[in-house]
Amino acid sequence: MVDTDRPTDPTPTAAGEAGRDFIRDIIQADLDAGRVRGVITRFPPEPNGYLHIGHAKSICLNFGVATEFGGRCNLRFDDTNPVKEEQEFIDSIQQDVHWLGFDWGEHLYHASDYFDTLYRWAEHLIRAGLAYVDDTPAEEMRAMRGTLSEPGRNSRWRERPIEENLDLFRRMRAGEFPNGARVLRAKIDMASGNINLRDPVLYRILHAAHPRTGDAWCIYPTYDYAHGQSDAIEGVTHSICTLEFEDHRPLYDWFVEHLPVPAVPHQYEFARLNITYTVLSKRFLTTLVREGRVSGWDDPRMPTLAGQRRRGVPAAALREFVRRVGVAKANSVVDLAMYEAAIRDVLNATAARRMAVLRPLRLVIENWEEGRTETLEAVNNPEDSAAGTRPVSFGREIWIEREDFMEHPPNRFHRLSPGREVRLRYAYFVTCRSVVKDAAGEVVEVRCTYDPATRGGDAPDGRKVRGTLHWVAAHDAVAAEVRLYNQLFVRPDPGAGGDLMADVNPNSLEVLSGCLLEPALAGVAAGEVVQFERQGYFCSDPDSAPGAPVFNRTVGLRDSWAKVVAGARGG
Ligand code: ATP
Ligand code: MG
Repeated sequence: MVDTDRPTDPTPTAAGEAGRDFIRDIIQADLDAGRVRGVITRFPPEPNGYLHIGHAKSICLNFGVATEFGGRCNLRFDDTNPVKEEQEFIDSIQQDVHWLGFDWGEHLYHASDYFDTLYRWAEHLIRAGLAYVDDTPAEEMRAMRGTLSEPGRNSRWRERPIEENLDLFRRMRAGEFPNGARVLRAKIDMASGNINLRDPVLYRILHAAHPRTGDAWCIYPTYDYAHGQSDAIEGVTHSICTLEFEDHRPLYDWFVEHLPVPAVPHQYEFARLNITYTVLSKRFLTTLVREGRVSGWDDPRMPTLAGQRRRGVPAAALREFVRRVGVAKANSVVDLAMYEAAIRDVLNATAARRMAVLRPLRLVIENWEEGRTETLEAVNNPEDSAAGTRPVSFGREIWIEREDFMEHPPNRFHRLSPGREVRLRYAYFVTCRSVVKDAAGEVVEVRCTYDPATRGGDAPDGRKVRGTLHWVAAHDAVAAEVRLYNQLFVRPDPGAGGDLMADVNPNSLEVLSGCLLEPALAGVAAGEVVQFERQGYFCSDPDSAPGAPVFNRTVGLRDSWAKVVAGARGG
């Protein structure tokens, strides 16, 4: 179960509170010292999957600082691997960045825009004696790279004459060789303590069509060779990335030093976002989709932005979450509860309140005439008086939540039970007089009487009731399917035991059919989020059909009772 019993207002980190962090401090200092005149950042996704919550952190940071310092942020697709990249991903990434609330304006770029320049620069390195064509088979090359404690060994092709390198590289480009036959490598230092500097591969042969350049190329630059130069070409001043690229920085600096680049970008690394019970890695998310563990990239259980959007998480909640997390230099794991708290805080202010009964139990009011109905007034959002009220219809038969009734309640159960009086929200006080059971002894109906003097929910004699229940009138209830989501993984650190798929939560989705909603919920637009009173926030799913609404639970409400009663009703 999602732990909904957590504080809804976690203390923001110092960085979040101050709205400052080390990245913003660096930028401010660069501007103050005149090291840069304007700020240019970029968000550089590889289009090999959908964006996830971790990317939201990078997007908010890159676009955020650009806005704050009056600069700009480019969206650049690092599309150097045509085998894994697809147009679907390119489209979804643009949609998701826009949805998060950011805009790159004219500045949409692709590493593939620079393939010609990158190629010319590769020849430049060859001519300078700083790159060579290596015929060593891939496996042998890997073995010769050495380890952290052991230096690598030079390839026997390392001292190839420049002219031969040029000729071979051009023939690689011309398509004369099969995949994997040769690579172009930088000639740096096979004994370097930094493995990234041990003659890294710059180009590989790949006879594959590219989503943008089609069949123009059969050699493609590596990510490491393309990334820094793309930044330089775009005049990026602050190239912000996650910590795993720290060790690559000396290589990026080496390229910039030895190539005729038009500008010198500087790279800064921050800690990537990790969340408990959540996997933020496109590789693993791809596996979940491919293996059918989820219904697709936008399955509401997926930590993708598309999945979270479908689940009902507003973009503002993602931005608020990222703000609270802040930007740090040390890796850490954020509690999933902190994410959910941000969602609740945003939705609490905006979502309309409605009544819905997820697991219905019939309640009959014996002293209410058959056929008589009455219209009552219900508040749309107690947090927002401008949201007004709506009429709800009440009658002799209504539905209440099965878990709001207990025949033999424990001491602290304040809801309905035999002889007990409770309030039906916006309606009347009712007292349970008896129950009807089926052959199996299960309560299938609760018989009550109501007090006509308590209309609207208050007793003129001032008497109090301890429980207030939500309800839906039987005569106008709308049946619906409701999908309850729990975390996708059973352990807080999925995959730490070695097998990520073994950690997939078999109970991450519970589908309830025959839920009953107040009629106002029949017309909720797809994507709109409402609060089902006392239950949580729910979002209309695109699977809804006329007369057959489907709702996703975005997040539960904080429910301090859940803990107390858990034992009594078996979880
Ligand atoms: P994944 O491991 O999910 O494939 P990635 O880093 O390979 O992620 P990219 O498309 O290269 O994915 O990411 C684009 C940008 O988003 C990079 O600058 C990367 O540092 C950043 N990013 C990716 N994951 C996270 C995360 N969990 N937290 C913060 N930033 C992230
Ligand atoms: Mg990557």
